Order: sequence, then structure tokens, then C-alpha cells
Amino acid sequence: MIHDVDTHIETNPGIVESLMLAPGVRKIPRERRRRRLPKSDTRGWKGIFWRLQFDSQYLRTVVQSAFALLCLWIGVEFYLFVRWGLSGNNSAIVSRPPGVEGFLPISALMSLKYWLQTGIINNIHPSGLFIFCALLLISFLMKKAFCSWMCPIGTLSESLWMLGERIFGRNRRLPQWLDYPLRTLKYLILAFFAYVTETMDVGGLRAFIDSPYNRMADVKMYLFFANISFFAVWTILVLVVLSVAIKNFWCRYLCPYGGLLGLISVLSPLKVTRQTSTCIDCELCSKACPSGINVHSVKRVWSDECTACYMCIEVCPVKNTLEIKAAKDLKPIPSWVFGSLLAGVFVGVIGLAMLTGNWHNSISHEEYQKRFKELNAPAYEHFGARGH
Ligand code: SF4
Ligand code: SF4
Repeated sequence: MIHDVDTHIETNPGIVESLMLAPGVRKIPRERRRRRLPKSDTRGWKGIFWRLQFDSQYLRTVVQSAFALLCLWIGVEFYLFVRWGLSGNNSAIVSRPPGVEGFLPISALMSLKYWLQTGIINNIHPSGLFIFCALLLISFLMKKAFCSWMCPIGTLSESLWMLGERIFGRNRRLPQWLDYPLRTLKYLILAFFAYVTETMDVGGLRAFIDSPYNRMADVKMYLFFANISFFAVWTILVLVVLSVAIKNFWCRYLCPYGGLLGLISVLSPLKVTRQTSTCIDCELCSKACPSGINVHSVKRVWSDECTACYMCIEVCPVKNTLEIKAAKDLKPIPSWVFGSLLAGVFVGVIGLAMLTGNWHNSISHEEYQKRFKELNAPAYEHFGARGH
């Protein structure tokens, strides 16, 4: 192999240190060098539009920030709703934001099974069902993109490992003998929920959906965090510390939602694809991959851990060598098209829920008032509660 470090530095100055680590690097032909924005054009609207179009990580940060702000907005609205409910109707009525149901995935899983078996979209958490379906569809079409482009926990997780990298210079990667078994944990948790759902017949599903527990599950979740226990605080702190030290600790090892999306994403036609004839074996893609995938050693990335984050593609110094595409001979999907498709599918499914009258639930303000008063009753206390 020919070593040609100067060419790399000229086209991609930020990779010098990584190239020092690379054992062998081939020369990049001039026509394959990646396009960089001239320094004079990096400011103002022109620079912003250029980045949105050509800098996948800039675009991803914009999308992540937009979803984080959306979640924050939902959180504030929900806080005001709960405050109204707990006030005993002594403050101005605040409507519940339906988007909060996106944080009730187990209820959504049961709603999905109920819908598939009966054709009925439940009227207790209908928006949760549509958000769940939107994420399943996204994973089927576009890998586990929800995790790296939209999920607020994924965004927090990424910020934490980046913080760790800044403080300590790098993140730890667990040895394979520990990494593999730990990665199965999220699938075991997922299998448990899938088993519970599978064992319920239509009557059982309807009883759960209509139960006081499920009707107030979003409020119970809010109160769990508002009155958080000492044990829960410590658990979260341990997870934060682990997430600073180890890339995506929660997502990689413990999140059953991510596990489900990962399993579906294996079916996705879009995959990171490597052109072996132009690859210079610099291994920068593998070093950049936050999911620890050896991108440089495969032609197509089939891994259930790939989140279509475009990080490997962004660092690849050779144009048209690493791309996301449906098949080797098909056109690649640029990051701005990918991001637009992602937002389009999500907004499209939510819009469908709104247009078909399946966005708001059927629980009246009067019923909420009554249930807020009896929140401490046994019927609201556990997963299997049935009574009305
Ligand atoms: S393979 Fe590439 S797109 Fe997939 S997770 Fe790794 S860096 Fe991101
Ligand atoms: S595909 Fe990976 S190994 Fe090949 S040139 Fe691109 S970054 Fe280097």
C-alpha cells in the first residue's frame, strides 16, 4: 500500500492524528477528494444552507435539537396539565398534550396488538399508538435512525459520551466478552414485554387499555420523576457516569425500545455501503462509528446497532466510497434527503392520526379531575391493575 498522508491532510485537515494511527493508506485520486466549503463562505445564511446540505452532523444536530425542543415543549404543557389536575380544578384548565403518549411504549405495544387483532384503534392512548407505528416504520425504512436523529434520550446519551471524550480524550470500549452478553440485556427486557403482551387475549388487552392504571399512566410517569426516590436518583446518576465513560451505555445495553427498532432495522433496504474498489483502508470509518461497528471490513453494514448517524460517511476521506443506499448499484441517499425523509415519515404518520381523529384521547376533563383525586388508590398502583 502507498502511504500518502499529505493528500489526506490537504483534503481533510482534521484527520491527521487518526491517519498517524493507520497502518497503511492508499492515495486518493483528485476527482475523489471530498468537497469542502471555502473558508470565506462559512458565515451567514450561505454557510448554514451549505452545512444543512453537505454536513450530515450539522443537519443531525439541528434535527436532534428540534426534537429535544419539541419534547421540552410537551413536558412544559404536561406539567401545566398535571398542576391543573392536582389543584382540584382551582386553576385554569390546561389540555393534555397528546404527544406525551410517545413516552408510553408498553401501552403502545398492547394497543398495537389490540388494533391488529380487532381492527380497533383504542381511544385511551391513540397518539401513543401512532407515534409507535411511525417509529416502527422509520426503522423498517431507514435503519435505527430514530435513535441517532430524534430520540431525546439518544441525544442526551450522545452528548454525555462526547463530554467524556472531551474530558478524558476518549471513551472506553468494553471487551468483547463483556460487550456481547451485555448487549443481549436489552433484548431480554424486550422479550419480557413481548411475552407479557403475547400472553394477553383480546379481553385482557381491552381490560388493560381501559384500566385506571393505563388511563393515568402518563400522569403516574410524571409523578414518578416529580417525586423521584433516592434509589431512582442514584440509578440515574450511575447511568450518567457510565454514559460519560462508555459510548451510548444506555442505548447499547439497556434500552428495549432501541432493541426492538434494531431488530426491525435489519430488514431496512437502506444500509451503509462501502465501495471496496475505492476504499483506501484507512479505517477512519470504524474509528468514528459510535456503535463500534467495523465498517471498513464489510461491504454492507447489516448490524442491528447501526443508527444511520452518517458519522462514518462524514469522516471517510474518499468521495463516493461510503454511502447509504438501498443497493450497491442504486443512487446514494445524501444526508439532507435522509433527514427530510425521516421528518416526512414522522410528520406524515402524526398528520394521518390527526386527520382521522385519532390524535386526542376520549378522556374528558371531568374524568381526569375525578381520577386525579383517587390517584393513590390501589387500582392505579401497578401494571396489572384492572378495576374501573
Ligand atoms: S456504521 Fe456508520 S451510520 Fe451506522 S452507526 Fe456506525 S457510524 Fe453511524
Ligand atoms: S470506507 Fe472506511 S476504510 Fe475505506 S476509505 Fe472510507 S473511511 Fe477509510
